[in-house]
Amino acid sequence: MTRPFTAGCASPPTIRQRGQHEVFCGLTSIIWLHRKIQDAFFLIVGSRTCAHLMQSAAGVMIFSEPRFATAIMEERDLAGMADMHDELDRVVDKLLARRPDIKMLVLVGSCPSEVIKFDLPKAAERLNRQHAPGLRVMSYSGSGIETTFTQGEDNFLAALIGEAPSAGSEDEAARLVIAGCLPEVVEDQFSRLLRDLGIPGVHFLPARSSSATPAIGPQTKFILAQPWLGAATAALEARGATRIDTIFPLGEQGTTAWLGAIATAFDVTEARFEEVTQAPRQRARAALRHYRPWLEGRRIFLFPDSQLEPSLARFLVNETGAEIVEVGSPYLHRDLSAGEIAMLPPGVPISEGQDVDMQIDRCRAAEPDLIVCGMGLANPFEAEGRLSKWSIEFVFSPIQGYEQTGDLAELFARPLRRSAMLTQGLAGGEGVSCN
Ligand code: SF4
Repeated sequence: MTRPFTAGCASPPTIRQRGQHEVFCGLTSIIWLHRKIQDAFFLIVGSRTCAHLMQSAAGVMIFSEPRFATAIMEERDLAGMADMHDELDRVVDKLLARRPDIKMLVLVGSCPSEVIKFDLPKAAERLNRQHAPGLRVMSYSGSGIETTFTQGEDNFLAALIGEAPSAGSEDEAARLVIAGCLPEVVEDQFSRLLRDLGIPGVHFLPARSSSATPAIGPQTKFILAQPWLGAATAALEARGATRIDTIFPLGEQGTTAWLGAIATAFDVTEARFEEVTQAPRQRARAALRHYRPWLEGRRIFLFPDSQLEPSLARFLVNETGAEIVEVGSPYLHRDLSAGEIAMLPPGVPISEGQDVDMQIDRCRAAEPDLIVCGMGLANPFEAEGRLSKWSIEFVFSPIQGYEQTGDLAELFARPLRRSAMLTQGLAGGEGVSCN
């Protein structure tokens, strides 16, 4: 059985580049965060560009009531028409009058120079005093100056942990914190598995309600569900919590290692672990068998995008038989991803950061079967007749856990299958459906 995984030594990345890079900014993470925390509102303090990004990236209809908005600051500040604190107060008052259901207001900083100069934590503190106890106000930076969009979630969680209640006694502290935003369907499955393993005091961070943030202290163990949580890890460790080190719950192997590490930390017997995980593991393997013929031996190039890339590459190699031409990550948290990197075959080129033109040249020269990349690169690659997959889909889709293992493989297999169908259809002179 594949019980706990022990992280090995990560070999250093072979390519490190600091040139032009193509990733979304940290505001993008609001798209999944605002859906998860049902009584929170994310107020971006930013520019029209920020508002346009969120409007188009989230695909929000004008008459829906999303739990995020942008307070546009730049023009007023430049013209000296209003003090930014007054302007923010005005926006917040209007918002709260319209949405009294909001229990947590999150001010999100952005990168226009006017906003960078604005002391957002201080503004949050002031608004907190003004609106307590019915409303909690906090802040973090979602600025595009960070290396990638998933750092928005990392910064948010670090701020949330900073405000989590302190554990006064051993009984009050969470026993296990699962850090990292997970889709509800995945969270429910993990809750059931952990309950069946007999793990007590499990909390997900962020929780679905702003009031459910657990007390954290030296009695707390935590495990990451996402690989981009460097700042959140530091914040949890500063509270005295201990990290359970393992790989991430992608695929049957990753999920078993992840649950196995929790089981070991809480002294669950091997027999109980087997009993609880045997059936879902078999289902995950059966789902994978269906996709393996599409992926085995396929050469895949992963551009840096979300920081999930080393985990995706490990899944592809070990569970589908695909080959990795190059795996990039915008930033490598070496300690958090050491286990993933140690499980890649020796010699797989790992790149950190990006010089996009040089990386495109390497990709073209390697002629991979599939390119996993950002939306901005995918269309030009498709126009050259190359197959691509948008990497952001791996962030927005439920892919963690046993029951999603087939869906994860399907995301990689779909472009290959579609291409095969089109080729067949053209050869046979018939129309084919691409779905
Ligand atoms: S935070 Fe910066 S990079 Fe992001 S949308 Fe606003 S201006 Fe653009």
